[in-house]
Amino acid sequence: MSIGNVLRTLLMPTRENCLVCGQSAKLGLMLPLLCERCASRIPWIVKPRCVVCGRAQGCPDCQRPEAKARAFALNRSAVQYDATMREWISAYKYGGVERLAEPFSIMLEQAYRRMCREEVGRAEAAHRARFKSHVFKADLITWVPVSEKRLQERGFNQAELMARKLAKRLKLPARDLLIRNVHTGKQSFKSRAERLRNLDDAFSLLPNLDPGGFQKWEAIGSPKRPGGSFPIVVLLVDDIYTTGTTAAVCASVLKGLENVLDRPVLVYSLTLARS
Ligand SMILES: [Zn+2]
Ligand SMILES: [Zn+2]
Repeated sequence: MSIGNVLRTLLMPTRENCLVCGQSAKLGLMLPLLCERCASRIPWIVKPRCVVCGRAQGCPDCQRPEAKARAFALNRSAVQYDATMREWISAYKYGGVERLAEPFSIMLEQAYRRMCREEVGRAEAAHRARFKSHVFKADLITWVPVSEKRLQERGFNQAELMARKLAKRLKLPARDLLIRNVHTGKQSFKSRAERLRNLDDAFSLLPNLDPGGFQKWEAIGSPKRPGGSFPIVVLLVDDIYTTGTTAAVCASVLKGLENVLDRPVLVYSLTLARS
């Protein structure tokens, strides 16, 4: 092959098959693996109506008193959970299209960056510091775990895969922090109170987070200040946010890290889709 041909092969845009529609097309630059037609169907949430849960429409849920006591600071989602996203997420989770984790992590990154800008704006408004540049960033990324049984059925944890890719993009540490406890008996036979109680202890901190290992946590996040410390900001990743119960329960378990680390822990929820 001549040098000219090699160069042409390298520089020519490659036509590949879109991950969701399967058509051969020129793939998008921002979302590799998706064709431009499919990418144009993504129902982005650019400006959330609800500042708590990031929903695009008005949201009566977050006005309830019990919702106000949620352990996470807020949730932001990249997109609305519409028919297109339902199809894509189910292809990802059950249809073997695991490579969707790639574009999904890019979508999460968009939502994360938007969330950071929002938080900086809020901090600046609160301090009326027009010229002071506030910075907001997560210190580490974790994810909502699935049970061992689900993991064996599915072969992977859909939230973990996206979260790890996102962490790589953002150059942030990804940490396995939570486990999902197994419950016996069918949920549908239980009363609402029982189901809620079940959810309360559905997650716990990973037991092998040995205290010695926490020494390394000193290196995570902003350094301690004399007489106080900056909180560690944990970004909790999941695929879908529906009622917010999962995020709330996981966040309250993650708050348990405060006792071990002797530092405040702030949990932000980041999900691919908001239903
Ligand atoms: Zn396509
Ligand atoms: Zn809301």
